[in-house]
Amino acid sequence: MPSHADDLAHLEQSGLLRRPRTVTPLAGGRCVVDGRELWNFTTNDYLDLAGDERLVEAAVEVVRTVGVGARASALVSGRTEHHERLEDRIARFEGTEAAMLFPTGYAANVGTLAALTGPDDTLLCDRLNHASLVEGCRSSGARFRVYRHTAIDRLARELGSDENSGERWIVTDGVFSMDGKLAPLVELCDRAEQYGAAVLVDDAHGTGVFGTGGRGACEHLGVEDRVAVRVGTLSKAVGTLGGFVVGSRSLVEWLRNAAGTQIYSTALPPAVCAAAAVAFDVIEQEPERRVRLQELSAFLRGQLAELGLEVVRGGAGPIVPVLVGKSETAVEVGRRLEERGFLVSAIRPPTVPRGTARLRVSVTVAHDENVLSDLAAAVRDASR
Ligand SMILES: *Cc1c(COP(=O)(O)O)cnc(C)c1O
Repeated sequence: MPSHADDLAHLEQSGLLRRPRTVTPLAGGRCVVDGRELWNFTTNDYLDLAGDERLVEAAVEVVRTVGVGARASALVSGRTEHHERLEDRIARFEGTEAAMLFPTGYAANVGTLAALTGPDDTLLCDRLNHASLVEGCRSSGARFRVYRHTAIDRLARELGSDENSGERWIVTDGVFSMDGKLAPLVELCDRAEQYGAAVLVDDAHGTGVFGTGGRGACEHLGVEDRVAVRVGTLSKAVGTLGGFVVGSRSLVEWLRNAAGTQIYSTALPPAVCAAAAVAFDVIEQEPERRVRLQELSAFLRGQLAELGLEVVRGGAGPIVPVLVGKSETAVEVGRRLEERGFLVSAIRPPTVPRGTARLRVSVTVAHDENVLSDLAAAVRDASR
């Protein structure tokens, strides 16, 4: 068995060794770490649903009646009435013919890309795409080109090139998770239609957050009918766990037969499905949550700008990245913020480009204006 001591020592020396901490989530946007209570600005629970009493009740009731685990994969016997109901609920929410669950959003991306494309095809992948899309592109065996969404002309050249034959797919996040920016979906759909390509959008950070109906970046930018495949996750604004794909009935039927990450993995716990179905009711019936989230996010951006701090430009919504430059600075500012009672993630290369280390602040509806102005002041003080 090879030892990893050298690799680990190398990581440690480069300041890149990471260790997960043990965190106890609390209500009201707070948590406990190392015995200290902190404001938590690191979660993806934007709508504060993970601890919502209604979701908890739904989950507890199903745990009491059918137990915890699903006992098998969906195609064998793991698909309960709770899975079926949730798939129907997601399709109804998203306004598509069908929806299919996956164990995680990560698995949804990998399984879907591998099932839909092969070595004859070409995948055009945004440079900022999530790691799971990149892995999906790789495991499909398709030709794989990276573009920057800030250089759409380059993308058009790739689409026009004879080298890139087969089916062509533009693959993108709906909201870039480290920048908080929306993808230019209208331009991407225009190009795709011009060159006969298809578009796949992973809207992990968009669902529940963007769009009048909460259906995400595609709704917000008016391209729902132009995107062939939409992938989402239940683990962020939906407050639970699991990935999903929505689209046509034939797309879903094909994925049920071809997406290995679903076929060979155990189905989601039924109680999680029951809780997620309730979350979609809340997202539909309480639009004030996403309105409030946008208000709070805009308020924080305003506070940071007033204090002269540099936020990644062009962003909207609850992911607010404050640029600090060097990795060591990001880590040090993060440490000082924690001393002052704020838990914020320091994001460093290779997750983001060199020289753009940042603090990634996630706003949720559990926060309020008071704590956001305190946080902005603390970021300024800690950056001095
Ligand atoms: C978080 C995330 C995923 C993975 O979702 P999980 O359900 O947590 O596996 C996929 N894509 C993007 C863009 C994400 O931010």
